[in-house]
Amino acid sequence: MSEYNDPLSQVNVSEDKKNQTILNFPVMPQNLQKEVDQPKENNIQLSKDVQEMWDLIPCYQIHGLFILAPIKNGILLIDQHAAHERVLYEQALEDIRRGRSASQQLLFPVVLELSLTERAVINSGVQYFTAFGFEISDFGGNALSVSAIPAFLKNGAIEDTIRGIIKYLLEGKDPELFLEPEKRFAAAFACGAAIKAGQKLSQEEMNALLNSLFSTKNPYICPHGRPTLVRMSVEELSRRFLR
Ligand SMILES: [Zn+2]
Repeated sequence: MSEYNDPLSQVNVSEDKKNQTILNFPVMPQNLQKEVDQPKENNIQLSKDVQEMWDLIPCYQIHGLFILAPIKNGILLIDQHAAHERVLYEQALEDIRRGRSASQQLLFPVVLELSLTERAVINSGVQYFTAFGFEISDFGGNALSVSAIPAFLKNGAIEDTIRGIIKYLLEGKDPELFLEPEKRFAAAFACGAAIKAGQKLSQEEMNALLNSLFSTKNPYICPHGRPTLVRMSVEELSRRFLR
């Protein structure tokens, strides 16, 4: 996609006009209730038949960050990382409850050299890694060997994913959100294993992601309370064009 100069930036808009016309993407309210398990009241509920038709909707990936999907009465912009985080978070909690996720055996185990601290982080939650579909064993010193991975994970992403999970746990992000260890590990897994910014997605992958997102209990926010999608109605778009 080629870059172009935003023509809006050239236009001189008076202050009060500006407030009406500049894209008013939802700003996180300061007192946002960061409850991650309760579906939030939201004015972007989609009708049931829209949710079931994602396979038929042509989506466009924008700058390796967002997915643009036309819907009946407007457009949706989906944050690919946040959306996948929501999907993986709920799946991870379910895996923990049920004991074991779908897993794929690796032909050749992947060996990771870790620091003492990183190794300790893994040790503190081996049962969760197992629940998510990893098979991890000692490989001498602080190294570990990964011989099975979650079914959806690509081989090339194993090291990045595990290091991402460790990093998330070490940084102790959002401790107030995830007091229970299973939620903390599920959020770390979701963050580490989710589609990254910049990752190119095929049409099928985008449709599959939207299908999975709208089968979650709470599709509108990621586990950290940030929006997964923004909707703009045709009316809103028309207003922007002063129609
Ligand atoms: Zn998030």
